Amino acid sequence: MESLAAPLWRTVQRENFTRITPLVEFLELSAPLATKLLSTPRFPLNLPRRLALKIAKNTLDDPILRQFVPLEKEALFTEGFSEEPLQDQAFRKTKKILKKYHGRALLVTTGACAMNCRFCFRQNFPYETEQQGFEEEIAYLSSDTSISEVILSGGDPLSLSDRVLATLFSALDLLPHIRRIRFHTRFPVGVPERIDNPFLMLLASSKKQIFFTIHCNHPIELDEDVLGALKQVQRLGIPVLNQSVLLKGVNDTPATLLALSERLIDAGIIPYYLHEHDRVQHTGHFALPASHGKELIAHLQKHLSGFGVPRLVREEPGQLSKTFISTSDRQS
Ligand SMILES: *Cc1c(COP(=O)(O)O)cnc(C)c1O
Ligand code: SF4
Repeated sequence: MESLAAPLWRTVQRENFTRITPLVEFLELSAPLATKLLSTPRFPLNLPRRLALKIAKNTLDDPILRQFVPLEKEALFTEGFSEEPLQDQAFRKTKKILKKYHGRALLVTTGACAMNCRFCFRQNFPYETEQQGFEEEIAYLSSDTSISEVILSGGDPLSLSDRVLATLFSALDLLPHIRRIRFHTRFPVGVPERIDNPFLMLLASSKKQIFFTIHCNHPIELDEDVLGALKQVQRLGIPVLNQSVLLKGVNDTPATLLALSERLIDAGIIPYYLHEHDRVQHTGHFALPASHGKELIAHLQKHLSGFGVPRLVREEPGQLSKTFISTSDRQS
């Protein structure tokens, strides 16, 4: 039976900061600092209060602020950057399926997220908003038996209600060639309450092997509540992995990335990918020289177990996989 009360995570979501003025006040920013923020960004401000609470007061030099609060630098135009550097439209098989790689179909389940990341590579994606269900997608998946894995992405798949996810799971359960379901989600970092008992029961009910890939860029994102929620997912036999994006001013120092990997592996979460930042227009202030990532990985390799070192990758449209950036040549 469905409860009439709104689930907790919905209530919490309503407390997001979506306007600059109350946020400036909350962060106690001085007038000169406040003028460096962009009050009407093209990609809206959306910052859960629990993340805003982690931001240091009266400074713009903070890894959470940089990820979620629009700076005036977003108004700048960077040569060589574009609206859609990944050319996703060319790989759209249905309104909600992207297929680039063998055996895997990526389902763009929704455009909604728990938070809006300023560097988001899909911030200009023309999301399908009319059709709620996945009939066309299920038809496509059942016709292509080479697909063994469905990646639930978006937006954020945890923005969907359990009811919608349950319908999707039931449809996938009927397709024997689909053996794995992978979540790509950042939701637990903003709203760990989303991982509640009904959701865990839903995960446990699927006949498929589930993988859970979170997106976290800085160790401060991983507090006790977030890790506690993910531990419940791990207890179901679901591997939890993490992908990060390498971002200037957020996680571009050896100490930060080392601390991130250590916090992840202490929680049994595997650092999977460290993505080079995609060249999305108006995000040029996050970019780093290509050599920087290699140097960071070399540092991690010297200090961590092999499974604590993420793989440095870049996405290049038209390639048959992510491009692994070689870090073995220590000279370069
Ligand atoms: C990144 C991506 C995947 C997953 O790639 P893995 O290397 O298996 O993590 C699948 N499909 C699309 C369209 C992607 O962009
Ligand atoms: S959670 Fe992911 S899809 Fe959503 S805004 Fe952030 S990077 Fe983009």
